[in-house]
Amino acid sequence: MRPLFPNATDAEWRDWRWQQRNAVRSLAELERFLPLTDDERRGCIETAGIFRLGISPYYLSLIDRDHPFCPVRMQAIPTRAEAEKQPGELRDPLGEDHHRPVRAIVHKYPDRVLLLALDHCSVYCRHCTRRRITSGAEGGISRDELKEAIDYLKAHPEVRDVLISGGDPLLLGTARLDELLTELRAIPHIEIIRIGTRIPVCLPMRVDEELAKVLRRAAPLYVVTHFNHAKEITPDARAACELLVDHGVPVENQAVLMRRLNSSAVAIKDLMQKCLTMRVRPYYLHQMDVAEGLEHLRTPLSKGVEILQSLRGWTSGLAVPHLAVDLPDGGGKVTLQPDYVVERRASETIFRNYRGERYAYPEPRETDCSVPYDEIQYQKFNQPPLPKLRILR
Ligand SMILES: *Cc1c(COP(=O)(O)O)cnc(C)c1O
Ligand code: SF4
Repeated sequence: MRPLFPNATDAEWRDWRWQQRNAVRSLAELERFLPLTDDERRGCIETAGIFRLGISPYYLSLIDRDHPFCPVRMQAIPTRAEAEKQPGELRDPLGEDHHRPVRAIVHKYPDRVLLLALDHCSVYCRHCTRRRITSGAEGGISRDELKEAIDYLKAHPEVRDVLISGGDPLLLGTARLDELLTELRAIPHIEIIRIGTRIPVCLPMRVDEELAKVLRRAAPLYVVTHFNHAKEITPDARAACELLVDHGVPVENQAVLMRRLNSSAVAIKDLMQKCLTMRVRPYYLHQMDVAEGLEHLRTPLSKGVEILQSLRGWTSGLAVPHLAVDLPDGGGKVTLQPDYVVERRASETIFRNYRGERYAYPEPRETDCSVPYDEIQYQKFNQPPLPKLRILR
């Protein structure tokens, strides 16, 4: 593991701050460690003014030196395609900037918000779709802006779920993170907190007992991490995830489906199954967003559906993520799945199962689904009327 950094002591290698200080941040440094392809070399040069380059020594050590399609390599080292903006690609692909009441908050959905805590990451993922922020082009998030975000949350009792992201919130020092979590926890209407982080994948030595205890104290808090390939599930990554779970912090995984990196049924199945062996639950499999310079990593929508079809029924339901498409221009997330309905009749619906065999599900005779007890339990509950979906007929 250490051949790239022969002078590092064990203690240094295990120290996340050493890893941060020794991250590879330029083409010249990168070339000292790895033979690059021409495409990568040009990629580093042409993306230099567009997005940060940064690879922790640990993540660098996972790269296959000889294979240009190594999935770790493809996530860490730019190629020329990333510097090419394609028509229709967006700087703010999810239309988040229209939903930023204050700079550090994206409030797009009724009951939950994204809190942008900082603009730094342990590795700058080549597929990052929030690169307008993580490139540093906007400037970081100041303490005052975080204060303003806390004030916004205090004033918005409809928010019951705060997803802390950025940037990578676990790059905050443990004391600073504790402070932020304590401030959030003092807001009574905030029920759950989520932390979106790539630390278990890219800098697992950051996860220590002290951090796990701070996260546990802020319960119910979920860590949502971002493994994209089974190659990233190393003994170190496993130890980080297990330490969190052992301390009572549930860990979920959001993966991104990327063309030629993990866009096969075997790669996704192996990833999801291995996540479960670390007690990390697959949550979303994201269709790649329409962000600038990322078309080369986008898959046709049909590919994700086909991959889900190869999972459902064939392996543990726990290993089957939701396939999410975050719609351009701020439409929000929708999910896609294989269509198992063959035919709908008034009295029954004909399905094909995961093996392609036909089965009928009969409709009940009674269709009144109102819940009488709701009137006692949920007097104040009001759900806005939902738009009609085809399946509801
Ligand atoms: C994805 C996302 C969330 C969380 O969505 P869930 O479906 O609840 O996981 C919240 N806010 C924004 C802006 C998001 O992009
Ligand atoms: S860790 Fe997340 S925010 Fe940071 S570069 Fe990677 S995808 Fe972007």
